[in-house]
Amino acid sequence: MSIKSDGPPASTPRLYVDQPLDLASEPVVDGAAAHYLANVMRLKIGDPVLLFDNISGEWLTTAKMIGKKSISFVVERQMREIESVPDLWICFAPIKKVRMDWVIEKACELGASHLQPVVTERTIIDKIKPDRLTAQIIEACEQCGRTSLPSLGAPVKLPALLRDWPEERRLLFADENGGVPMPQIQAPPPAALLVGPEGGFTQKERELLNAHSAVKAISLGPRILRAETAAVSGMALWMGQYGDWDVAQTS
Ligand code: SAH
Repeated sequence: MSIKSDGPPASTPRLYVDQPLDLASEPVVDGAAAHYLANVMRLKIGDPVLLFDNISGEWLTTAKMIGKKSISFVVERQMREIESVPDLWICFAPIKKVRMDWVIEKACELGASHLQPVVTERTIIDKIKPDRLTAQIIEACEQCGRTSLPSLGAPVKLPALLRDWPEERRLLFADENGGVPMPQIQAPPPAALLVGPEGGFTQKERELLNAHSAVKAISLGPRILRAETAAVSGMALWMGQYGDWDVAQTS
C-alpha cells in the first residue's frame, strides 16, 4: 500500500468510536465493527484505521491486537480536529422507513447539524427507532468523512416544536402550497428546514406556522416533490447559499 505523504491510503477504513481519543488512548473496537475490519477488510496487525470520536476529531491508528471479538489500536497521530458543520437543522415528519433512512443518510452527507423528527397531523409513522437511526447516522458519517455526528432529537409534535422554538433560529417551512423561493430570502445560520409528511401539511398547521415569527414559507418549485426530495433539495439549496460548500474536500 503506498502511503501518501500526508496520510493513509484512501481505502483506509474509517470508523466512529464512542470513546474519547488522544495519543495516550488505546481504543478497542468490538462487535460488528470488529467483525467488519477483521473479516471483510482482512485487517492485519499494523494496518492503518482512521478513528473519530465526535469529540476531538479524527486520528490515524494502527491495529495492535486482533482478537476473535475485538481489535485494539495504537493511536499514531491526529489527522483532523473535529469540524464545525453549518448550523442547519432538518425538521422532518417521519415517513416510511426506507425513504426516511434515505433522508437521514442524505442529511448527514449534506452537513446538517441536527435531525429533528416532527409529528404532524398527517404523519403516518409516529414512532421512530432512535438506535436504528443513530446507526444510520454513524454509517453515513463514516462514509462521507464527517468528524462530527449530527444530533438526533426525540420526536415532537408540531405545536410543541413551535412553542419551544429558539427565536434566533430561522425556520424555513417548505410549503407545498407555495412560498418564497429560498434564494430570495435571507436565512443565514442558525437555520432550520421543515418538511411535511407524504400527506402534506393541513391548513390549520399552515396557519400555525405562518403565524410564528421565526417561520418563513419557502417554495421548492412548481412541482409537488416527495418529502424526501423536498428535504434533500431544501438542504442542498441552503448549504449552497449559506453552508460550507466553498471549502475543499475533507480527505
Ligand atoms: N400530498 C401533498 C404533498 C406532500 S409532499 C400534496 O399533494 O399536496 C411532502 C412535503 O414535501 C410537503 O409537506 C412539503 O414540506 C414538501 N414539498 C413538496 N413539494 C414542495 C414544493 N414544491 N415546495 C415546497 N415544499 C414542498
